[in-house]
Amino acid sequence: MSLPAAAEIEQMTPMLRQYYELKLQCGDAILFFRMGDFFEIFGRDAEDVAPVLELVLTSRERGDQQRIPFCGVPHHSARNYYLKLLKKGYKIAIADQMEDPAEAKGLVRREIVRTLTPGCIDDPDGLERDAPNYLMAVHEDPDTKAWACLAADLSTGELRIGRLSSLTELRGYVERFQPKELLARKFFHDEIKTLLSSYMVDRRLLVEPLPEAPLRDRAEQKVMLTEVLGKQDLDSQPSGAVPGGEALVTATLFYFRSLQASLQQFMNVRPLHESNTMVLDETAVRDLELFETVRRRQTEGSLFREINRTLSPMGARLLRFFLGHPLIDAAQIRARHAAVRSLVSLGEERLAEIRVSLKGMGDLDRLATRIFGLSAAPQELARVIDSLEKAKWIVENLTGEKGEKLPEDLYKAVAVGLKFYKLPLKILSEALCDQPQALGTGLGVFRPGYDMTLDGLNEIARSGEGAVDAYQETLKQRTGIGSLKIKFHKTFGYLIEVTKPNLARVPPDFIRRQTMVNCERFVTVELQELGETLVSATDNALAREGELYSALLGELAKFRMDVKSVAHALATFDLLQSFAWTALRRAYVEPRLSDDGKVELRGSRHPVVERYVGRHAFTPNDVSISTEKKHLLITGPNMAGKSTVMRQTALAAILCQIGSFVPAESVRLPVFDRIFTRVGAADDLSRGQSTFMVEMAEAAAILRNATPRSLVILDEVGRGTSTTDGLALAFAILQDLSRRVRCYTLFATHYHELVELTADMQGIRPMQTEVVDRSGRIAFTHRLKDGASDSSYGLEVARLAGLPETVLAAATQFLAQVPQPKAPTPRRLQGASAVPAAQSQISAQNVVLERLAKLNVNRLTPLQALNILAELQGGSTAARSAPLFPEESC
Ligand code: ATP
Repeated sequence: MSLPAAAEIEQMTPMLRQYYELKLQCGDAILFFRMGDFFEIFGRDAEDVAPVLELVLTSRERGDQQRIPFCGVPHHSARNYYLKLLKKGYKIAIADQMEDPAEAKGLVRREIVRTLTPGCIDDPDGLERDAPNYLMAVHEDPDTKAWACLAADLSTGELRIGRLSSLTELRGYVERFQPKELLARKFFHDEIKTLLSSYMVDRRLLVEPLPEAPLRDRAEQKVMLTEVLGKQDLDSQPSGAVPGGEALVTATLFYFRSLQASLQQFMNVRPLHESNTMVLDETAVRDLELFETVRRRQTEGSLFREINRTLSPMGARLLRFFLGHPLIDAAQIRARHAAVRSLVSLGEERLAEIRVSLKGMGDLDRLATRIFGLSAAPQELARVIDSLEKAKWIVENLTGEKGEKLPEDLYKAVAVGLKFYKLPLKILSEALCDQPQALGTGLGVFRPGYDMTLDGLNEIARSGEGAVDAYQETLKQRTGIGSLKIKFHKTFGYLIEVTKPNLARVPPDFIRRQTMVNCERFVTVELQELGETLVSATDNALAREGELYSALLGELAKFRMDVKSVAHALATFDLLQSFAWTALRRAYVEPRLSDDGKVELRGSRHPVVERYVGRHAFTPNDVSISTEKKHLLITGPNMAGKSTVMRQTALAAILCQIGSFVPAESVRLPVFDRIFTRVGAADDLSRGQSTFMVEMAEAAAILRNATPRSLVILDEVGRGTSTTDGLALAFAILQDLSRRVRCYTLFATHYHELVELTADMQGIRPMQTEVVDRSGRIAFTHRLKDGASDSSYGLEVARLAGLPETVLAAATQFLAQVPQPKAPTPRRLQGASAVPAAQSQISAQNVVLERLAKLNVNRLTPLQALNILAELQGGSTAARSAPLFPEESC
């Protein structure tokens, strides 16, 4: 935070001095400073946020001959603006006027009334509809030196904690949870920011201090945990005990409370990683484009977008969670398949009807948090009623209590939670009128008959309004002024308005209150008395309404477990119907889990590519992997569909393990324990890593962590370095995967030599993507078949891509002149010295290249050029004669 120097502030106007006093208190937060009907933002803050909020940046005198930039927003719409800033990762402080400016002596007193941070939002308008809003926190337990890590979503009450093997492990969790805010003790901030620098390149992550006091105060921890979770420690929580866990949970809850957030929605603490789910690391999530595309980071084109047919935000968030955490428990996977099957069996027409009935299902999960925090508005409660009605509808129509008897599986999946709808629904629908209006407007929240006192007060208010109308009529008659009107004024109460031409007829008992341009306003003693009765009746009615409303929220909060169960069951049902709908609409089939470990995909399709190229233009493929031949070595031209078929296999596995059906004719898959990918080239310059370094780091992670039950996708490993080094590495990696790791592998490569080199290796099955010659031009069928491809057809693909003919001609000529490396025999590669041999060849080539680079061609005579060529030829003979994988290295 950079503020003007104290001496400089001293010279400013009293108002700006007050502004900077408050700015000092709120640190890096953007300060919204109330001035009359506006919230103004000054100085650096204004320069920073004006473009984000699309506000005009202007400036004003600051009292010392200089000007200060500022922008402002009307106070009644300020919420929209600060929510927009919160969504973009800013921290906000709101300074309001603490006294009525009309009554203030001198400068109006202002105070910071609320601080808001991106990880502490519960207002639905400030949240992304279908994504959770996590705050994470880390803490090193001083006794054990173990790191505890926590993730919390204030908007839903999700709270998770786990142990990190080291602080660096935080990076993986941050990639997975994508928090908006992270809490850590102040002195770790620099270390953490460096560790997470790559995450923070294109995402805002607010790093804030973890409150210190509760970290050390065990007594305070017990009080807080008992209050929120009903237990003094974490031992009995689903998370189990975690070193330093109590301290971390308590400090985080303290932080939430300091920002006036409710804690009622936190009911238990789950593990950071659920043991029945797979760890899908950031690389696989990225390469398989589960949530966004690699290139443009857009949701459009991702698997999530493709299969998301949920009808509610909570269903969509559950899908997001499932996609990031596929199941590894066969029984649970089968149960989900069975539930989807039961919905699919209804057929498209019936499912479409069900979807219509469920449309408009609210976000009960987040609404519940608003109820528990006593901040839900009456209109939000109306949405809660809608959601509970949907639960009732499902129970009555689908889950077998009556009506259409759906199979047990679906019943089991959702009915248990759904049946808790009854009590809260009864309470709400007896209390609220059909279209409840905002509190304090007097437009109606409660049903007539709900509360006699409220009804009585409303009646008095209503009859008072009638009395005012009647009095207006009397006055019209008495004065003969037909245009006379009685109007309500916020400050003066009821006033009689008489237009200027009629002023002569005003009787003497009218007391003048205001003179306007076209009229004058009066009051009479009777009107004053009538007004007072009416205002007090209205005030009393509103006060009663407020009391009743708080009591209603309090009553509902008692059913927090029930409401949460319904929310969870509705989300689950929504997700299952989404799976079923996608299956019916896009011809997905139920996968079978194979007990013999075989992968058998018949007519499998890539869910996203098939939509882009068109269902009929997409060539379905068969992929079968047996336990004897677990490694498919796929060669084929560029653009022939290698990456697509590999990714669609991984996506089929993920879809299967989240409980969805799969785009194919038939599917048999084992349950994979992990899915790894290494696809394409990506620099990670922000982490200080080159393309090749990233590639090798990812390959290393796969070799370290994959097991025989893992699925590994490797696309063009070794392309980031020289041909020889790359080939040597690709060979060695494939060899290690097949000999030691023995995981299911799909390995695509343009190193055609690998086919021959691995011919003797057990478990490797060469496959190719087909290319056919159509009238002298190559064409891709995108069909995967047995065998190996003889060429990458790089030049033909470059022509298709529109590379200039001159460049293509030069490349063709180059190919004709440069001798092609011969495929070495497999036996030559078995030894470990292949790499040094390859390196010696490269150094010889480098000598030639270096020499060429140093030449100044413009100054060479033809004779000199010829001599150099002859000289190089002599030298390079040695280079060429050094075989790629020499015999003597065996
Ligand atoms: P490269 O070696 O250059 O990376 P590749 O062999 O991996 O290429 P892909 O990237 O998988 O090829 O596919 C290239 C394009 O071909 C896809 O973007 C898609 O448009 C089309 N394609 C791939 N597979 C199929 C298919 N089975 N049916 C129809 N079109 C396909």
